[in-house]
Amino acid sequence: MRAVGELARATAAALTDLVLPRICAGCGVPGVLLCRRCAGRFAQPHLAQPRRFPAGFPPTVAAAVYAGPVRPAVNAFKEHGRAELARPLGVALALAVAAVRAGVPEAGPGTPVLLVPLPATRAALRVRGRDHVAELARAAVAELQSAGVPAAEARLLRRTGRVLDSAGLSAAQRRANLAGTFAVLTGREVPRGTLLVLVDDVVTSGATLTEAAAALGGTRQGDTPVLAAVVAATPRRAPEPGRAGPPARTRRTG
Ligand SMILES: [Zn+2]
Repeated sequence: MRAVGELARATAAALTDLVLPRICAGCGVPGVLLCRRCAGRFAQPHLAQPRRFPAGFPPTVAAAVYAGPVRPAVNAFKEHGRAELARPLGVALALAVAAVRAGVPEAGPGTPVLLVPLPATRAALRVRGRDHVAELARAAVAELQSAGVPAAEARLLRRTGRVLDSAGLSAAQRRANLAGTFAVLTGREVPRGTLLVLVDDVVTSGATLTEAAAALGGTRQGDTPVLAAVVAATPRRAPEPGRAGPPARTRRTG
């Protein structure tokens, strides 16, 4: 019977190798999901600094700079269905959560950390057939818990349905466009005495996180500030020509 179990495991592993594209999602080297070198790019937590800080932009830590091999790796997960990248990218997100939490002195080690995933638009769910930010949040929570951090996922927000296509709009227009995009889910209360960390994949203008923080913050007078953590942040200055990755083809709203 033991042999059967072993065989089953070996078969499963072999099938996994057949089914999954075993190339690094960042640089394309064969044999791994994410090579050591590319994985290292996801372990550089830093404060995200959008070019024009929207008023009310929450303190946000990104695990990586959205440039070089980070871009194809995030897009492989997000747009090209490589859902198996949820684990490594979730680990990166957990690192960003831990870093942003460390900057809040009033939050002791026992303060529960609630990860609030930004809800997807209905259109994005239709196109992708999955909620990739929720997948990231789940993986990050598991990672934080295994590191002894009292973390949980809290789906507190919903889209109000007011968001429009923001492509081609200025930062100010985007903000006006996004105003009132999020609301706390009916029947849900924003818990007190917890650290709320909004989580998303990539931050660019910061408008989406700002709107989401406003939706949560309105009900939290006197409590700890709403924070945010993301896998990657668009660099403030464009990388040097020739060293930059291909331009992102993905339309972003935030
Ligand atoms: Zn690589």
